[in-house]
Amino acid sequence: MDVIEELKAVRGRDIPYSRVLSSMCTVPHPVAAEAHSLFIETNLGDPGIFVGTMELEKKVISMLGRLLGNKNAAGYISSGGTEANIQGIRAARNLKKVDKPNIVIPKSAHFSFEKIGDILGVEIRRAKLDENYCVDVSEVEKLVDDNTVALVGIAGTTELGQVDDIKELGKIAEDQNVFLHIDAAFGGLVLPFLDEKVPFDFEVRAVSSITVDPHKMGMATIPAGGILFRDETFLKALEVETPYLTTRFQYTLTGTRPGTGVASTYAVLKHLGYDGMKGIVRECLRNTRTLVEEMKTLGFEPVVEPVMNVVSFHARDASRLKDELYRRRWVISTIREPEAIRMVIMPHVNEEMIKEFISDFRQMLIR
Ligand code: PLP
Repeated sequence: MDVIEELKAVRGRDIPYSRVLSSMCTVPHPVAAEAHSLFIETNLGDPGIFVGTMELEKKVISMLGRLLGNKNAAGYISSGGTEANIQGIRAARNLKKVDKPNIVIPKSAHFSFEKIGDILGVEIRRAKLDENYCVDVSEVEKLVDDNTVALVGIAGTTELGQVDDIKELGKIAEDQNVFLHIDAAFGGLVLPFLDEKVPFDFEVRAVSSITVDPHKMGMATIPAGGILFRDETFLKALEVETPYLTTRFQYTLTGTRPGTGVASTYAVLKHLGYDGMKGIVRECLRNTRTLVEEMKTLGFEPVVEPVMNVVSFHARDASRLKDELYRRRWVISTIREPEAIRMVIMPHVNEEMIKEFISDFRQMLIR
């Protein structure tokens, strides 16, 4: 068998996105796929060679920065939200220079923060959530001490899409003179396009860094995460010397890294523009409302009314439901607190797919 035929067969065993309601990734926009193939051999680990690609990255960071309230933001396109969060906290730790650094994060934070504690030797303090599953700011305040280097706020939690009170976190960060990192890996490319403005970005004065992932709602090709800092000083705090490359210093976590994410992010943002992105987000939210209405007819209530296109529904035996759906080739996920089934309504999820899912789910439930 020809190797390409072999590879096609392998891909055929993957579940297509048309059956996936659990992922924060999606089918890349066609313009992103085209841009990706144009930049397939680029390596931003050696920017002296890929001069054009490097300039494009600066442009992309400035576009994302403008969207997030700071056109002078510094940063880069990372391998994803995990790397972006690592680098956000690493910069804070390096700048603060305390003996036993700690960070205060919400209990709802993504599991990448577990890795951060381990890799960076930073103690992770988890603050409780309030009744809306947003971080309880008074709990955050109690956990801060002289060794705290940063607070973390989430703009679009992985499980429920909730947004923490970033303004209040900002007040604590200013009072205590600590950095404030915002994990907007998902929400960073949703919230700017909502009719109702939610404060979460650099417009909140205390915000020092933001994770924002184009390979999620930005419809860029994987991998394309983003770490944005308020200014260059944070990048300086990440630099190591690079003796044999075309540039002397490197602030990224990975060495060799693709320019494909940069090109595909640029392509989508430029091609769709603000209004085009707003249209995509509006459609995802419309589909989310349809899903919620349909799920209610099956007796499932959302844990919270979704602010964005992530929604979890109370369910007894959530794991069993997930497994049974998986056997029918539908992929959803579960959350533990409270026990619920979780769905993400990405751009590949359309009304027809929702109807098909609900119909299969209904049949499964009456058996
Ligand atoms: N932060 C949040 C809020 C997320 O939802 C995720 C992934 O879902 C991440 C960070 C990690 O992103 P990645 O999987 O791209 O490393």
